[in-house]
Order: sequence, then C-alpha cells, then structure tokens
Amino acid sequence: MADSLMLNTMRNITILGATGSVGASALDVIARHPQRYRVHAVTAQSSANELADIAVRFSADVAVIADAALEPALRDALRARGGNTTVRAGRRALVEVAQAPECDTVLAAIVGAAGLEPTLAAAEAGKRLLLANKEAIVCAGALLMAAVQRGGGALLPVDSEHNAIHQCLAGVGESERAGARLVLTASGGPFLNRNDLDGVTPDEACAHPQWVMGRKISVDSATLMNKGLEVIEASWLFGVPADRIDIVIHPQSVIHSMVEFADGSVLAQMGTPDMRTPLAYALAWPERVASGSRRLDFANVGALTFEAPDRRRFRCLDYAYKALARGGAASVVLNAANEIAVQAFLEERLRFTEIAPTIERMLEAYDPPPPNNIHDVMHIDREARARASEFVMDKVQ
Ligand code: NDP
Repeated sequence: MADSLMLNTMRNITILGATGSVGASALDVIARHPQRYRVHAVTAQSSANELADIAVRFSADVAVIADAALEPALRDALRARGGNTTVRAGRRALVEVAQAPECDTVLAAIVGAAGLEPTLAAAEAGKRLLLANKEAIVCAGALLMAAVQRGGGALLPVDSEHNAIHQCLAGVGESERAGARLVLTASGGPFLNRNDLDGVTPDEACAHPQWVMGRKISVDSATLMNKGLEVIEASWLFGVPADRIDIVIHPQSVIHSMVEFADGSVLAQMGTPDMRTPLAYALAWPERVASGSRRLDFANVGALTFEAPDRRRFRCLDYAYKALARGGAASVVLNAANEIAVQAFLEERLRFTEIAPTIERMLEAYDPPPPNNIHDVMHIDREARARASEFVMDKVQ
C-alpha cells in the first residue's frame, strides 16, 4: 500500500535516537495516540537505563544500544524493570531495525553523521522516513534522495523549518515550486545581541531562548551553523538552489519558515516553538493529530520582528553556503569539522570563537573528490574528522 494511503491504520515505528530530545518529543506524541502508533524498536548510543525505561513503557519489541560494550548493562536494566524487549547491540543492529519488515515508519533522530547509515537504510527499504537527523542529508543529500526514490516510501522533514516549508508547499505543483523562494527563519540563538563571544561557556551556548534541544544542535544554533546546515538540507529536500534560499532572523520563533511564490504571495507556517507539532504532522501526514503543544496566543505574542543575520559575527552561515555551492564532498567536510569543533567546545578544549575558524580551515585544506556512494561519504567523514581533531589539538597545545 502506498504510504500516503495508510490512513487510520496502526503505524509501527522505529525510533533511532529515542533517548534524545527529539526522541522524547516523539514519544510524547505517540503516547497520546495508542490506537494509531506502536513502537517497534528504540535505539540509543549509551543511555542504557533511559533506553530500558522507554522500551518497557512503550512495550517495544527491540531495543538497540549502539555502544556494543553496553549490551550487558541494557540487558540488566531491562531485567530489573521486568521488560521482555529483545536486546540488540552495535552499529549493524541500528541498520537492521531501520529496515526491519516489522516497522513501516522510522524516525531518524540520532545526532550527527553517526545517523547516516540507518537513515539511508530506512529510505532504501521504503519506510516513511521522519527526518530530524539533518547531518545525514547534509552529508549525503544526493544518496538519500535517490534512496527515497528507489525505496518508494515518503520523506517527511521534522526539522521545524523544513516541516513548515513542506506544509506551505502542500498541493503546489512542480512548476510553481520551481520559481519559489524559501525563507528560513532563525531565532538568532542566545547571542543575537551579545558582541563579546570569546568567553562564552558551553552552558551559555546551550541556553537557547526559544527551543529546548540536545547540546550539539544548541551550540549549532548559537553559531548559526544550524541555519547553515538547514540551507543545505532545504536545497536537497525541495530541489531549490542556494540563491533562492534566504535566512531571516525572527527572535519570537512563531513563524517557522516561509515560501514566496512567483506572484509575490508569501505563505508562512506558524505555531508555538514545540517539536511535537512538526513530529505530529510527520507522523500523521496527510492527516492531522493532536500534538499536545500549546496553542498560539496572538494577542500575547504581540509583535513579530525580523532582521537580517549578521554574517560578519556568525561566519558559519557563509561557510555553509560556500560548501553547498562547491558541491561534492564539501558539505561532508563542513559537517565533520563542525561536529569535531562543537564537541571540543562542549568539552572546553576549544573556545566558542574558534569553532568557525576550524571549519574555515578544513574547507580550505581538505578538498577530496566527490563521493559516489555511502562508503566514500564515510571515508571522507572519517578523514575530515581526523584532520579537524589534529587542528583542534594544535590549538590547545
Ligand atoms: P540529543 O543529543 O538530545 O539526542 C541524540 C540521540 O542520538 C540520543 O538518543 C543519543 O543516544 C543518540 N546518539 C548519539 N550519538 C550516537 C551515535 N554515535 N550513534 C547512535 N546513536 C547516537 O539530540 P537531539 O534530539 O537534539 O537531535 C537529534 C537530531 O535532530 C540532530 O541531528 C538535530 O540536529 C536534529 N534536530 C533536533 C531538534 C531538537 O529540537 N532537538 C530540532 C530539529 C532537528 P544517548 O542518549 O545514548 O547519547
């Protein structure tokens, strides 16, 4: 049965990254609709206790811990809770639960390029793919879009901006889309109005004014690299070139993104900043279900404001546009350098203001040939990480 015709039927879901922030929001929506959704498999990297809690609460068939050394810990945690979920471990198991015939829907909510393989596997297997893991599409946009085509499933963006654009483009024909301009909104992050960013601490960078998210994406929001990654993501998802994707700072985070059509009409999608809204949309599409999110109170919101991003202070934006224009392996290098720099910043080995120069340096220094397949992507990713780690180490010494 075509994915969009599976109306009102029970969906069986695999949640890659169930212990994370997106995973938790998805589980909250799923718990509200036990007649529509059941959890087939849940995965985590190392949070064995949290994963066992989720597996038992949602009666999951399978729980996967990616760090294979923690398999005994997950077994013990499940036993202690009286759960009879099957335990799997290791990276191969992530791929297997993403393509398992027992599930029809996969939420890709692992953080970083680590989510690439299972995300691709889900697409190839024709699952309804709910994509939060933006690093996967940034690194392997062409491969992922081709896998979705071959698999015959549906790709529904969960990232609130792309979810907004998906909603604005619903029912819009190919030719109208071709002339459209996408406007991604950005809250501006915690440092929108702070000039001296040298002494920024990880906790300050993670204190996002509007959204509660995992630490990596929170830092990406503070550097605006998150918006840069989203430009690349939008270009692949909607087939729109970089010169027709704009960014506007909108601190209230009420408008999640907009589409401007050839006749000058602009459609915007609005709502309170709560990931349960895009998750509920992606889970139920083309229907709508309650998400639990707060309703938008326009009188309370008062004013919606907009301004251009300060590209001089937030240079990651330009690096992302540059990587997209260059094509080939550049986005893989951009993403790997960013992941290494952000991790080093979170571990207090790198200053906040050194994140952008690390990415710039890697884009200058490493220009491998374009990847043809997932193995090429993973090789470039590994190499770029090794080089970026060395660069960060040199800075520390
Ligand atoms: P979190 O850090 O909160 O959660 C990440 C999840 O991935 C956890 O379940 C974690 O397991 C697992 N994980 C981490 N590393 C690995 C690995 N190497 N292999 C397998 N699993 C791993 O992240 P978020 O939920 O914030 O973000 C998830 C993705 O969604 C990111 O790509 C982010 O950019 C995107 N996104 C997030 C939004 C948000 O509001 N948070 C909004 C839009 C997009 P463990 O708990 O064991 O570490």
